[in-house]
Amino acid sequence: KPRVIGRNAGGRLGLTAKNIIAVGSGKGGVGKSTVAAGLAIAFAEAGAKVGLVDADIHGPSLPHLFGVSKNGPPEMTERRGPDGKTVPRLVPVPVSLPGGQSLGLMSAAFVIPERTAAVLRGPMTQKYVLSFLQQAEWGELDYLVIDLPPGTGDVALTLAQNAALGGAVVVCTPQKVALLDAVKAVSMYRQLEIPVLGMVENMSGDLFGRGGARTEAESLGVPTLGEIPADGKVRELGDAGTFAGVLSEGGSAADPLRVAAGKT
Ligand code: ADP
Repeated sequence: KPRVIGRNAGGRLGLTAKNIIAVGSGKGGVGKSTVAAGLAIAFAEAGAKVGLVDADIHGPSLPHLFGVSKNGPPEMTERRGPDGKTVPRLVPVPVSLPGGQSLGLMSAAFVIPERTAAVLRGPMTQKYVLSFLQQAEWGELDYLVIDLPPGTGDVALTLAQNAALGGAVVVCTPQKVALLDAVKAVSMYRQLEIPVLGMVENMSGDLFGRGGARTEAESLGVPTLGEIPADGKVRELGDAGTFAGVLSEGGSAADPLRVAAGKT
């Protein structure tokens, strides 16, 4: 079955990302959203047109990181389809970056009220995620970064089967339990024939150890894209909704994030 989303350049999906990149992890809480957002920011600051999809329907965190969680539902626009009929389209929520660039964001957090759980079964979460790709007016993008939910479940599978993913980045922390699950994530992408662009070790340092991901990546034959230290500034920026400034204010995590984006 062809992976069609993102392939129809100029077509009616309105999504013509040249490079659709999924950011996944085996485990939750390892910094997947942090890395996905950091990569998207670095691409945008380098001059690329970037979209960011929060595919973690049950635990959407990107709108909070960027301080746009209270912006309400995305605005609507419309587009005339090939049959001449107009169809309603969602406008991705714009996020401004300190360098003057902006990126578009789609997340379930814009439609599900804050502090309310998204009590949904798999088929509904898949529908949400596909609608973020197919019903949003992304326009021409150079990169679409997708922050996947943790694990190897429904959403990851649906995206891998439907979107023309250019590759996947796997995020993990250096300790054994996270690495074991990261190996499973790599295995999933390989089974689905999605190129694994590399692994990012996050929160590298005294607390969890260092270098575990590199060793694991080497044994799997995938590149290591970076080792990002644990730095309290990263958490502070995210908690304050000012994560857009991570490349200038993210302390020791800023440069490794930029380097990881370059390698991706
Ligand atoms: P995940 O998407 O894997 O669940 P998050 O990106 O939401 O993980 O990160 C979980 C928490 O850890 C957040 O509070 C985030 O700010 C913090 N965090 C992530 N990476 C770092 C880092 N390198 N240094 C310090 N805190 C971090």
